[in-house]
Amino acid sequence: MNQPVMGGVATMNAPAYIKQQKLINWVAEVAALTKPERIYWCDGSAEEYDRLCAEMVAAGTMKKLNEAKRPNSYLACSDPSDVARVEDRTYICTQTKEEAGPTNNWIDPQEMRGTLNGLFDGCMAGRTMYVVPFSMGPLGSPIAHIGVELSDSPYVAVNMRTMTRMGKAVYDVLGTDGEFVPAIHTVGKPLAAGEKDVPWPCNPTKYIVHFPDTREIWSYGSGYGGNALLGKKCFALRIASTMGYKEAQAGGDGWLAEHMLILGVESPEGKKHYVAAAFPSACGKTNFAMLIPPATFNGWKVTTIGDDIAWIKPGKDGRLYAINPEAGYFGVAPGTNTKTNSNCMSCLNENTIFTNVALTDDGDVWWEGLTKEAPAHLIDWQGKDWTPASGTKASHPNARFTVSATQNPVIDPAWDDPAGVPISAFIFGGRRSTTVPLVTEARNWIEGVYMAATMGSETTAAAAGQQGVVRRDPFAMLPFMGYNMSDYFQHWLDMGKRLEGKGATLPKIFCVNWFRTDENGHFVWPGFGDNMRVLKWMLERVEGTGGGVENIFGTTPRFGDIQWDGLPFTAEEFETITSIDKDAWRAELKLHAELFDKLAYHLPQELKDNMAKLEQRLNG
Ligand code: GDP
Ligand code: PGA
Ligand code: MN
Repeated sequence: MNQPVMGGVATMNAPAYIKQQKLINWVAEVAALTKPERIYWCDGSAEEYDRLCAEMVAAGTMKKLNEAKRPNSYLACSDPSDVARVEDRTYICTQTKEEAGPTNNWIDPQEMRGTLNGLFDGCMAGRTMYVVPFSMGPLGSPIAHIGVELSDSPYVAVNMRTMTRMGKAVYDVLGTDGEFVPAIHTVGKPLAAGEKDVPWPCNPTKYIVHFPDTREIWSYGSGYGGNALLGKKCFALRIASTMGYKEAQAGGDGWLAEHMLILGVESPEGKKHYVAAAFPSACGKTNFAMLIPPATFNGWKVTTIGDDIAWIKPGKDGRLYAINPEAGYFGVAPGTNTKTNSNCMSCLNENTIFTNVALTDDGDVWWEGLTKEAPAHLIDWQGKDWTPASGTKASHPNARFTVSATQNPVIDPAWDDPAGVPISAFIFGGRRSTTVPLVTEARNWIEGVYMAATMGSETTAAAAGQQGVVRRDPFAMLPFMGYNMSDYFQHWLDMGKRLEGKGATLPKIFCVNWFRTDENGHFVWPGFGDNMRVLKWMLERVEGTGGGVENIFGTTPRFGDIQWDGLPFTAEEFETITSIDKDAWRAELKLHAELFDKLAYHLPQELKDNMAKLEQRLNG
């Protein structure tokens, strides 16, 4: 690899503006292993984005949408086998199995390195390796961390430009010895000399591997979302969660990397709070982050800091401050429309990459739920003719849009403030058709951590595998934890204890469920903008003005404690989504106990005690 090889517009030699030898050596090492035909060093410019997109159009990976209808936008359709995150192929390779914990797939790091070295040997043959420098968090901010992704997918390069602060300026921040997270990605489909490429190369064998000790990420075989855009779930959650934990283990305050949206909410009186909410994938984060209050909520404003990931650190004043490390949204398209979320829809008017939605006859996009009636004819996400009589979904249920945060009409003015925003409340929510009431407030930090730790949710299309099955998803972090889940619970408890010890008021913790259904399987709660009604109650609780009653596991609003004007919702309907069925909760507690058995190693005593109290109240 010391022999420079020229190819196309790219060169094996690093551009002169890269001053870090360690980085240059690493790129050369990876190239020596993966054997790409050429190396392309991304600068993050608009010209480069346009050029890579045009190349993908020529290669059949993307289609350019009708410029008059959706300017500067594209549709990519993946291989039908590569449509979601692959949790069973995701590994945390710590020295010991206990460090990764029972919720993660673990393989001995040495063994995994052997496997990967075999798989990656020559894996980029015939392809370009893109060098993608990016910052998670505002460039140069003390909270931000830098990564460099080496990928043989131009789709990854352009998506990373939207999702992160990507480009040449990252090298200035890195300087001669700055730290970066090395992330290597391949679609795992080398091309023989003269072999014709396919529109969406990938490999049936997939590995999404993390080495937390060296902060490395290695991803093999998929081009999709969280499997391939390595700044997102791999770095900003799995690696970052470990970084925040280790900082506390080393004697610092530590910090939290959470699967949370962050929103600002301002009352008509001008009082502003920020809340962070964790919902599992495809359970409403992006929608809640851009919520439009009902028309009757005059003067209430909701603004977005982030829609998926929060990095949270204690400030000098003892409050917790959150930043959004990302710069764009990789959101679920199906179900999004102007009625449920017109803010989200106006993000998508231009400069958007759509993945796995359907194509209309006039060169625009369509997905289930966009309009009441489907168009008479479409090309579905698999490239086939589609009509409403086809009996299949025109877009994949996990179809996505990639769009810059700056296109959000309700972006919060502080969205890229390096200091972050102070959090008044944490919300945890799952998708539960039964059992879990609309909203419950934890009476204290430990009860809140317990609620988050034992949360269950029905699985969605965001991950490969069976859908609609209830599973425990602690903190909505099950697929994204970089270390032992019980140690993570302890980290949360310790964080609370430390801050309370300093005399700080901790954020209140709430648990919500927008998804309870009636006997016909229909959602009872209107959700979306009407979630504002619940949010308002939560803020009243934060301010000490809201009413509620205590039940066996927390405090819930009575019908009269919620502002209803503009919504014909009856006390009976309210009852169907807030009632607590003791038998259902006895069954639920068995599932908590099962989880705690699984997590017995290092499980905090406080959580066991909380469960015992809960059992007593339930049976008392
Ligand atoms: P995320 O993956 O957590 O960001 O979830 P999204 O906000 O993208 O939503 C995932 C799916 O849930 C979409 O189909 C939404 O239309 C739907 N959804 C979001 N919020 C609500 C809600 O409050 N009620 C109901 N019934 N569906 C919702
Ligand atoms: P999300 O994850 O559903 O939480 O947005 C998607 C992904 O990372 O692929
Ligand atoms: Mn989302």
